[in-house]
Amino acid sequence: MTTLNYNSLFVNTFSRSGPPFVKGKGMYLYDAAGKKFLDFGTGIAVNALGHADPLIVKELKKQGSSLLHVSNHYITPSQINLARLLIEHSFGDRVFLCNSGTEANEGAIKFARKWARTFSEEKYHVLSFSDCFHGRTYGALSATAQAHYRHGFEPMVPGFHYAPFNDSKTTLKLLERHEFAAIMVEPLQAEGGVNVIEEEFLRNLRNYADENRICLIFDEVQCGMGRTGTLWCYEHFGIEPDIMTVAKPLGGGIPLGAIVCREEMVDCIKPGDHGTTFGGNPLACALGCVVLDRISKKSFLKQVRVTGDYLSKKLYAVKAKHPVVKEIRGLGLLVGVRTAVDPSPIVMKCRKLGLLLIKAEHNTIRFLPPLIVSREDIDKATAIFEKALRQL
Ligand SMILES: *Cc1c(COP(=O)(O)O)cnc(C)c1O
Repeated sequence: MTTLNYNSLFVNTFSRSGPPFVKGKGMYLYDAAGKKFLDFGTGIAVNALGHADPLIVKELKKQGSSLLHVSNHYITPSQINLARLLIEHSFGDRVFLCNSGTEANEGAIKFARKWARTFSEEKYHVLSFSDCFHGRTYGALSATAQAHYRHGFEPMVPGFHYAPFNDSKTTLKLLERHEFAAIMVEPLQAEGGVNVIEEEFLRNLRNYADENRICLIFDEVQCGMGRTGTLWCYEHFGIEPDIMTVAKPLGGGIPLGAIVCREEMVDCIKPGDHGTTFGGNPLACALGCVVLDRISKKSFLKQVRVTGDYLSKKLYAVKAKHPVVKEIRGLGLLVGVRTAVDPSPIVMKCRKLGLLLIKAEHNTIRFLPPLIVSREDIDKATAIFEKALRQL
């Protein structure tokens, strides 16, 4: 089997290279050539408990050998357990289970529009923010402000508008122009360059939404589930949404997304209004329970804050020695390193040296290790990162 010409098999949507990955264990990934990689990309914030976590594997075998799928015309125990956990550990009253972050956002937009239409026929506009990323299907893509994602796929869904992130004055002016159903925002923009929302800005959005009956949606697909050292990123600001979307790490590596809502937002939703064949899949939900149960523990979250601080501290030390590093940004274990030049060669060099990192917008390199990362792993990763900077 030749592994090098696989690119001709796929639609060219990802620039992939190197031998296939064949195995994962804890913090490490192994490729078909036997090379080992310290995984600080975590499958883009998915494998929060690392690879092949023993409890995940155990549950996978247990649920996998009892029941894999039933239609959403029925219910399964793991769905009930997961919905209960999500409600117990958040602001929410009701849950819709789906398969991805994009699908969660798509549903959140639909719910918000249906709710807002109960006030006025014209109340369907949706506001999102510069540098945000909400997904690839037409609703979620229409909400994604970064133009390069939309280029060539226009026209977008009508009624979507973008305001500058963290700019209250311009945002409030834009909000006056139309009848808005929803404001959709990432409390910490990940793809967009690791941009933390300012508390005052978020408070202004919350207040405006309350005063004007607008649904405030937090996209916590990447920043939620313990990533920033609190279970939900919004806890840092003490400001709650009306709807929150969750996905990436939720299913422990199996596709799983969730829309968590306040009761009032979904009073108008009736059977048949929205749906999914696979959403709430018993296997995905069983793994979701394992992940959420573990990550929501106080001691686990405290450890994320401790290792997150340590990672930032180590990266500040690298910055002090390497002028190419301009800025360290982020919260908890979602840390961005801004560089003076395009960081692609640095990311590639790190991969050669056995460390996986991910790029983001604005010359940013994302460090988002599994939440189980240790100080020793961080020492190793930052040593490799420094070595890459020295060799370039
Ligand atoms: C990845 C991501 C999405 C899209 O999720 P998919 O599971 O890839 O569909 C949406 N919002 C944010 C903030 C993301 O990081």
